[in-house]
Amino acid sequence: MEASHISLTRHDQHVPIDYLSSLLLKTAHDAIIVRNFTDQCICLWNQEAEELYGRSAQEAVGQHYAALLQPHVLNGLVDSNEILGREGQWQGELTQMRSDGRQVIVHSNQTLMYDQNGKLTLVLEVNRDLTERRRLEQDMKEYVQLATTAGDLGLWSYDLSKEPDTIISYHETPNLLPAGIPVNLTHYQKRVHPADWQPSRDAVQQAIQTHQDYIDEIRLIEPDGKMRWLSVRGRPMYDEQGHPLHLIGVAFDITERKRMEETLRASETKLRRLVDANIVGIIVTTLSGQILEANDTFLSLVGYTREELMTGKLSWRTITPPEYQQISDQVVQELRQYGVCQPIEKAYINKEGKHVSVLLAAARLDETTDYNICFILDMTEQKDLEKQRELLIGVISHELRTPLTAIKGNLQLAQRRFQRYIQNSQASSSLDSSSIAKIEVSLEQALRQIRVQERLINDLLESTRIEDGTLAINRQPCDLLRIINETVDDMRFIRPTQALLVEVPTQETIQINADPGRIGQVLANYIMNAFKYSPEDRPVRIGVTIEEQEVRVWVQDQGPGIPPEVQPHVWDRFYRIPGNKAHNGESKSFGLGLHICRVLIAEHGGQVGVESELGKGSTFWFSLPR
Ligand code: ADP
Repeated sequence: MEASHISLTRHDQHVPIDYLSSLLLKTAHDAIIVRNFTDQCICLWNQEAEELYGRSAQEAVGQHYAALLQPHVLNGLVDSNEILGREGQWQGELTQMRSDGRQVIVHSNQTLMYDQNGKLTLVLEVNRDLTERRRLEQDMKEYVQLATTAGDLGLWSYDLSKEPDTIISYHETPNLLPAGIPVNLTHYQKRVHPADWQPSRDAVQQAIQTHQDYIDEIRLIEPDGKMRWLSVRGRPMYDEQGHPLHLIGVAFDITERKRMEETLRASETKLRRLVDANIVGIIVTTLSGQILEANDTFLSLVGYTREELMTGKLSWRTITPPEYQQISDQVVQELRQYGVCQPIEKAYINKEGKHVSVLLAAARLDETTDYNICFILDMTEQKDLEKQRELLIGVISHELRTPLTAIKGNLQLAQRRFQRYIQNSQASSSLDSSSIAKIEVSLEQALRQIRVQERLINDLLESTRIEDGTLAINRQPCDLLRIINETVDDMRFIRPTQALLVEVPTQETIQINADPGRIGQVLANYIMNAFKYSPEDRPVRIGVTIEEQEVRVWVQDQGPGIPPEVQPHVWDRFYRIPGNKAHNGESKSFGLGLHICRVLIAEHGGQVGVESELGKGSTFWFSLPR
C-alpha cells in the first residue's frame, strides 16, 4: 500500500495528498512509519526508517507495530494509542528496538488519519532519532559532575523570567549551598554579605544588558557566622527574540586565597609603616644594584633625591666606595645562599663625594625574585667616637707610656748607681745610714708607683683591644710548669718579702697549647691580687691539678675573702668590690684585671672561677684544655 493512493482526513478535515507529500518531504530526515490503527499492522516504512531500525521496508511492512518495535514511552506510563484514539495526536519521546537488539531514543510525532468514509484509520508516525543527542547529553552531565567534584565547583542557574523572587537552583554545589535545592532570591540574599548584595545585583543587570558574562566575588555568611568568599561567574541566556531567560553560572570557594591575600596585605602594610617611620634608612634593591625604593632617611643619608636615585643611573654599587665592593659581593652571596645577611659595616659615597659610614643588614623579599630589603643605620657619630677612642688609646700608649718607661728606666738606673755609690764609699761616712735608708725607700716607692701606673695603662690598652677584637693571642705548644716557675720567679723578685708556696706535680713538664705570655699574664694577675689582699705573713699558695681533659692552676690567699653574691661579678668589666681595700693601701685600680683574665682564658678554650669564704681567703683558678 502506498500513501499517495489514499485520500485521508484528519479530525474530519480533508487532508489533501499534496499536504501529505510536502510533510513527507519536509521530514525527509525522519523515519516515517504508517500503521493501521485497528490491527496495528505497518503499511509504510520509509528509507530513514530502514536505516534507523536496521530493517528493510519488505521486512517491516505487514508486521505488528508494537511486536516489531517494542515502543516504550519515556518519562511516564502513557499509553500513546489511547491518547491517539481520543485526541487524534500524540507527541513524546519513545524508546524503540532495532533489529540488532539495541534501543533507539526517538522523538515521535503521531497523527491519526481516516479515509473519507471513516473506515480505514491510519497512524502517521514521524520519528526523529535522539539517541546520539541523549548520549551526548549524558556525557555532558558526567563531564560536569566530574568537573564540579574535582574542582569543588558549584553550578547554579537563575531564572530571569520570574522576578522579583526568582528561583535559584544550585546543582552539584558541595561547597556552596545544599546541592540541588532550589532557593529563592530572598533566601539567597540572607546568606550574602550585605555590602556585596547590591553590587552583585547591579553586576547581574549589567551582564544581562550588555550580553556579557557576569563576574563577581561575593562573601557568604554561614549560619554559624563564619564568612566564606565565592568567586562567581555567570552567563545570561536569551530566547530567540532576545529576551533574557536565565543566567547559568559557576561558583567556587576562594576563602583560602582571600585569607592569604589579607595576610600578605597586612604584612605589606606593616612593612610600609616601617619604611615610612624613617627610623632607619630602608631601600628595596635588586641584587645587581638597582634601587627600586628608598625612604627619606636613606635619601638624606646619601644626599640624593628620590628621582636621582631611581632614574637607574645610580645603583647601590655606584655609590659604594671601591674598598667596600668586596664586602658588597659577600652580602650578595649571603643573600643568594641564605636569604639574609648579617649586619655589616660599610660606607656610601654621598652626593658631595664624602664617605658615610653605615651599618647594613638585608633580607630577600621572597625566593622567586631578586628583590631585597636593606636596613641602613647611619654610623657617622659612632665612627667619630671610635676615632676619638682610637686617638685616646694612641695618646695613652705613646704620650703616657713612653715617658713612663723613660722615668722607670731612669729610676732603676739611679737606684743601681746609688747602691754602687754606697758600696764604693762605705768607708767614708759622709752620708749617715738613716739618710741612705730613706733614699733607698723613696726610690723603691717611686718604682712601685710606676709599676702600678704601668699596669693600669696596660689594663686599659688590653681592654680596648678586647673591645676592638684586636687582642692578639699566639698559641703554641708550651710547658705550663715552665710558665708557672718563671712567673713565680718574677713575683718573688717584685715582692721578696711575701711568702709564695708552689705545689706542683713532680713530673717534668705539662704540655699545653697556649700563648705562654698570656697565661703568665693571667697567673701574675691572680698572684698580684693575692699579694694585695693577703697579709705579708700569710703565705700565698700556687698549685696545679691535672685532670683527664684539663689542667687547673690555682692561687690561694688568706685575705678577707669575697662575699658569695659578688663573686660572679668580679670578672665583669670595671667591677670593683665596694669598700674592698688592699692591706697595703694599693687601691688604685680600674676593675679590669680579672675581666682581662677571663677573656684571655676563654680565648684559650678554658674557664675561670673563684672559691672564697669571708674572713678565710680566696682561691682563684683557671683551667685550660689538655
Ligand atoms: P682590679 O684590676 O681593679 O684589681 P680586678 O678585676 O682584679 O680589679 O678585681 C675585681 C674586684 O675583685 C676588685 O674589687 C678586687 O678588690 C676584688 N678581688 C680581686 N682579687 C681578690 C682577692 N684575691 N681577694 C679579695 N678580693 C679580690
